[in-house]
Amino acid sequence: MRGFKDNFPPYSNKIEAVLEAFRKISSLYGVAFVDLPLVEEVDLFMRTSGEDSDIVGKELFSVARFSKSEEEKEKSKTWALRPEGTAGMMRAIKENNILNEKKECRFAYIGPMFRYNRPQAGRYRQFSQVGWEFIGTPGPEIEAEAIIGAYEFASFFGLNFELEINNIGSLEDRKNYRQELQNYFEKQGIEISSDPIKMVDKRDKFEDNFPQIKINLEDKKNFSRLREILEKNKIPYKHNKFLVRGLDYYNSTVFELKQNGKETQGALIAGGRYDGLMQQIGGPATFAFGWAAGVERIANATQIEKKHQVVALVPLDAPDYAFLVAAKLRKKGINVKIFWGKILKKILEQADKQNIEEILICGLEEQKDNIFILKNLKNRTQKRVELWNLG
Ligand code: AMP
Repeated sequence: MRGFKDNFPPYSNKIEAVLEAFRKISSLYGVAFVDLPLVEEVDLFMRTSGEDSDIVGKELFSVARFSKSEEEKEKSKTWALRPEGTAGMMRAIKENNILNEKKECRFAYIGPMFRYNRPQAGRYRQFSQVGWEFIGTPGPEIEAEAIIGAYEFASFFGLNFELEINNIGSLEDRKNYRQELQNYFEKQGIEISSDPIKMVDKRDKFEDNFPQIKINLEDKKNFSRLREILEKNKIPYKHNKFLVRGLDYYNSTVFELKQNGKETQGALIAGGRYDGLMQQIGGPATFAFGWAAGVERIANATQIEKKHQVVALVPLDAPDYAFLVAAKLRKKGINVKIFWGKILKKILEQADKQNIEEILICGLEEQKDNIFILKNLKNRTQKRVELWNLG
């Protein structure tokens, strides 16, 4: 199936490493995990990302109840597979009245997203994102904390990347910018095919006189404080004045972490402030800042993978004894894979292919003495281990 991937080891071991690092960084920053539906009302995405954003206008997968009746099918077509996690998170926070009890919260999510885009390198129709949403707190300090977390998370994978930041001001600032862009595009004879700001998001070359967004005083102040914090914490960044993000819900600070040399593929991590989103879905005005990282994009770029250290247990003619030995070892936290074959030579070959270094042999002969033989394939050593030694 084009655009859908089947992930097996060793690639899936890289995915595991990404998820493990994300869980680790999330606990280090006091971020709690939530688990949300993969399906939401289409309307939620219309209201938040915007009808003319690519992910809604072109890439949404709708979900219909399977029915022979066309009428039934049509009626149920109000759901979509989620293309991103933020809108669903805000819907869930609102519906579950999470902010009634807490004034601020930090949530993380892991899960598949779906976008019907043209499959190409680093772009899939089903991919996974991990993300953070910091809800209820204004100001550049929390933004810096979330960005530093994203930076540390990406640093874990030994990649060459760059952090780009910008501030896209208030709704009013963007309204003015939109008009300025429209005038500019018209003057240049460039066809205005969608929201002019989204056209900026898709553009990668900017003429010297290309309009830059002018932002209000408060956002200017916040932006310089954000830069100051990043500098004090030795987080290198670039101010990209044309970084606008393609979704309607962003305001003020936006950022992207891009892998150097892979500009065409898009960012590894992207995010920003979205204070207006909760109101867009009918809730109270709520401060919010968050980011999402593409799990496959990081996995594709890194050499780091989760190592599964396991010993091979070879029962030969004593299967019942093997269960006993394996249980004792597993209780000690040792990962054990029992090879149920009968021919030792073949088992050793298989274990070697799977990079297993330690082989435990426990046939009837060993059972008599309550021992097993520990063979190390790498050092080519062999020793007897008494079972009582395992406790
Ligand atoms: P976005 O929600 O578009 O801001 O994307 C957030 C992150 O998700 C990006 O930085 C990518 O790493 C990842 N991503 C977005 N679209 C895709 C896709 N089609 N395939 C794989 N990863 C994606």
